[in-house]
Amino acid sequence: MYYAMKIVSYTLSLYIAAAPASAHEDAPYVQYLGTGAADIHRPDHCECKNCSYTRAEGGRNKRRYSSLYAHPGVVIDFSITGMTSLEECGIHPRDINYLLFTHSHSDHFNVSALMELIAARGDAQPLSVFGNSTVVHLIKQHIESLETDIALTVTAINAFQDFVAGEWQCTSLAANHAATHEECLLYTLTRNGRSVLYATDTTWFPARTFFALQNKKLDIAIVEATFGPETEAAYLITHMNFHFNALIREHLIKKNILKPEGIYALTHLSLHYVAPYDKIHPEMLRQGMLIPHDGLKLTFD
Ligand SMILES: [Zn+2]
Ligand SMILES: [Zn+2]
Ligand SMILES: [Zn+2]
Repeated sequence: MYYAMKIVSYTLSLYIAAAPASAHEDAPYVQYLGTGAADIHRPDHCECKNCSYTRAEGGRNKRRYSSLYAHPGVVIDFSITGMTSLEECGIHPRDINYLLFTHSHSDHFNVSALMELIAARGDAQPLSVFGNSTVVHLIKQHIESLETDIALTVTAINAFQDFVAGEWQCTSLAANHAATHEECLLYTLTRNGRSVLYATDTTWFPARTFFALQNKKLDIAIVEATFGPETEAAYLITHMNFHFNALIREHLIKKNILKPEGIYALTHLSLHYVAPYDKIHPEMLRQGMLIPHDGLKLTFD
């Protein structure tokens, strides 16, 4: 086990040092548009050690709402920090043709932000949106309230469904998150034998999701760790911590779901509960878990 962990840690440092994919533009990669949880504004006023550091230092310690770009063409989740994220990451709205939503919580989905994205795409092909029935209902309700035509196709999906988003083969998996009837979704995206898992928001995966993952070979696993070091049950009812992630990482490696050279990375990190990027990144890397910053690009080669 120790040997496998060492390999992953070593590969992680290589990937971080990797140059942007501009040398070979068509190579798939993923880029974190945002890495924060719902509390990204807490450092504006909170006097705790973590928030005070983030407020004073800024830079990689600040986080926008969690969102991921998968090149080419796909974005998972898009809320009010979405347009800023695209600009900061140098991605033109026209380059996004598919939008996948995990669930309707406001740090992941905002209908005005979606309309802003569509307007910024101009005359590009209609945007294709995939999401659960709650998200689809909210989008359709908004569109019906407008007088104009919107260049948009909306598809409702359930967990454990395969579908295509441009060059990516996608599978939806069940999350374990909402207190309501909403079916929150996780996704795997695969292109040319390269796969990424995007798992937020969720606490410990439902059994069916673990079983469905047994058929996957992942190059990159991105899993939420909202509450970082917290271990109280109350925190872990709808979100995960570092300990849950250590167990999931170990499981994915033991079952050969995460490839030996694969990357295990986190996302949806609370700025209040998780130590700032500067402070926590090196130690977590030693444990085989990559702490991301907004804009971080992960390549598959
Ligand atoms: Zn969230
Ligand atoms: Zn949520
Ligand atoms: Zn705080």
